[in-house]
Amino acid sequence: MGARQQFELKLKNGLNEAIDNNQLRLAFQPIVSSKSTEIVAFEALLRWNFDGENIPPDEFIGIAEQYGLINRIGAWVLKESCLAAVSWLDLKENMAVCINVSVIQLQDSDFLGILDDAIHASGIQPSLVSLEITESVFASDTELMLEKIRVIQGKGIKVSIDDFGTGYSSLSAMQDLAVDTVKIDRSFIHKLEDSGYAIVTAVIHAASQLGFDTVAEGVETEAQWKKLSDLGVHKLQGYFFSKPMEADEVRRFIKMQTK
Ligand code: C2E
Ligand code: CA
Ligand code: CA
Repeated sequence: MGARQQFELKLKNGLNEAIDNNQLRLAFQPIVSSKSTEIVAFEALLRWNFDGENIPPDEFIGIAEQYGLINRIGAWVLKESCLAAVSWLDLKENMAVCINVSVIQLQDSDFLGILDDAIHASGIQPSLVSLEITESVFASDTELMLEKIRVIQGKGIKVSIDDFGTGYSSLSAMQDLAVDTVKIDRSFIHKLEDSGYAIVTAVIHAASQLGFDTVAEGVETEAQWKKLSDLGVHKLQGYFFSKPMEADEVRRFIKMQTK
């Protein structure tokens, strides 16, 4: 067995017990209105502390998907994210929560029930929940996926296309999916000074024609913020406003801004 395979196996075994061993937690990154910089939502980002080490989600989500662990982990994420969001409402009404959902979760026949459980157990208003899915929903079963997304929206829950522009079918995703929000991938924001500009402008234009909200990801500088705001992007997310923070910092962060 190669070193990479051995490492994956170690992560897989660890992940299998991560929930029971209380090794998973959520970090939260604010999403702000581009005009006022008022916080309008937090994106929940999964964190795993394994053997005293923080393993980045880009490393373990793929393994969780590959070994059939993502449904259980994703159910935990949904439930914890909704509970967290409810706990902030006394500080600021209408604060939304954005939750990453992998395509494999969406394909699972239990997904809608799991989603309902998370909503009901927390008592959150469905319109404050936004599910972030990537364009790869179109890789298989397009009709089934579209139907599921419509059912989710029928519950009042919002749906966003994440990492927009990086997939193979971005424009058809925009056309076929009557999503609520398009999150423009950070690779375009980082190239805003050159080739990214034309892409971002085109995405904003198409999104506004279709009536979608736009979020720019990975905003790291004031110049990017100003430019994106001038271009008419509705919301912004990135290190310039805040890095993802631990759950117990969220309340302090909201209080600081609403003071
Ligand atoms: P994503 O959904 O695109 O999440 C945004 C990622 O960009 C986060 O990385 C965040 O920390 C990072 N980021 C935010 N602002 C900036 C910035 O200004 N500059 C740069 N360079 N990066 C920024 P993170 O937390 O490491 O998550 C990586 C990916 O892992 C996420 O990308 C998402 O695809 C996946 N992920 C995280 N949590 C979950 C989860 O609960 N479920 C699923 N299925 N996937 C998750
Ligand atoms: Ca996301
Ligand atoms: Ca993204």
